[in-house]
Amino acid sequence: MDIHKSEKLFAEAQQLLPGGVDSPVRAFKSVGGTPRFIARAEGATIIDVDDNRYIDYVMSWGPLILGHAHAEVVAAIRAQAARGTSYGAPTELEVELARLMTQAMPSLDMVRFVNSGTEATMSALRLARAFTGRTKIVKFEGGYHGHADMLLAQAGSGVATLGIPDSVGVPPAAVADTLTAPYNNLRALAQLFEAHRHQIAALIVEPVAGNMGVVPPCEGFLQGVRALTLEHGALLIFDEVITGFRVGWGGAQGLYGVKPDLTCLGKIIGGGLPVGAYGGRREIMQWVAPSGPVYQAGTLSGNPLAMAAGLATLNVLRRTNPYAMLESLAARLCEGIAAAAEVARIPIWQNRVGSLFTTFFSSGPVTDYASAKKSDTARYAKFFHALLDTGFYFAPSQFEAGFVSVAHSDEAIEQTVIALRRVF
Ligand SMILES: *Cc1c(COP(=O)(O)O)cnc(C)c1O
Repeated sequence: MDIHKSEKLFAEAQQLLPGGVDSPVRAFKSVGGTPRFIARAEGATIIDVDDNRYIDYVMSWGPLILGHAHAEVVAAIRAQAARGTSYGAPTELEVELARLMTQAMPSLDMVRFVNSGTEATMSALRLARAFTGRTKIVKFEGGYHGHADMLLAQAGSGVATLGIPDSVGVPPAAVADTLTAPYNNLRALAQLFEAHRHQIAALIVEPVAGNMGVVPPCEGFLQGVRALTLEHGALLIFDEVITGFRVGWGGAQGLYGVKPDLTCLGKIIGGGLPVGAYGGRREIMQWVAPSGPVYQAGTLSGNPLAMAAGLATLNVLRRTNPYAMLESLAARLCEGIAAAAEVARIPIWQNRVGSLFTTFFSSGPVTDYASAKKSDTARYAKFFHALLDTGFYFAPSQFEAGFVSVAHSDEAIEQTVIALRRVF
């Protein structure tokens, strides 16, 4: 495979952008090699600057549930662009998108649009602290909620550890009120709440973990989290930036039947443009400025291009209800991976929820961050490169989700399964 243009661009990019990229995982650091510079994309296919074609299972990390350059989404963006790209004033698009979201997720009475998932989670936590008058927050080890200072803490193993920053530049004070607990462990969580009675403002959780690789909640886990937060007067925040409109029209909260107080969204609701949102119960959301005292603003928030792309995406999803089809495509892919691994006698563990999946190179079950980290990342890197070299673009890291879109045809899945046999 000729990648000389990507190589040249990567060399130039590294002089101009830290690591040559604008978001770390794109640089291929954990798998090695040269990131492909993408020139264009359509459907399930991305095409790099050297004209190599790949069937894409990253799909911009989740937003593109309809595939690249979906005709209706492109048309919506084009039509809106001709009418202006930003006004700094309210639009009907925001009302329409908010209405669709509140219809899809009954826990949402109101929403506030922002520009990224990061902004959504940091704003939701500010709101939760204001509403409860408490300062501590709880997150799970391996849970990713964007890059706000207070959320860049996973702490060590064990229960009830006070936060230790995950990144230099995060002052210890910024994570001093961030408590962490192991995912899928209600006992540890109960102890944490017990040890910090009347101090915890909110617990934030990816209802299906997607950023340590995909890790579904164990039976009863989310229900238990709901019960504990209610018992202790803490708000429950579902970070559905990945799962919202991905695992079903009603998100993970619809799938598992658990109602959070606040929800963070992003990715799919922007249809491939930069968007985030947070929303929830009216009495809480009315604390947000200008109706309430919690300040939060954005020059480009509710941007009409992004609203138009999100609205077009959600309208297609509502009209076509593709979730059963997405699930069966992803299931076939995962079955293909499992069969190929078994023939080659390579131990793997796969987690999948709907069209969201991860193949862990691990012989044991992956139920939390500690077990995810037991994966053989060197083996994953080989798997990744063998696929990439034959035209299949999987996530350049073991600890990420794979995404199937509406544009992944039966043939695309079949081609991938055939390639997987060779790869293993
Ligand atoms: C992607 C992601 C975020 C961050 O969103 P950005 O738009 O990248 O800031 C937050 N939470 C989860 C669960 C995510 O997957």
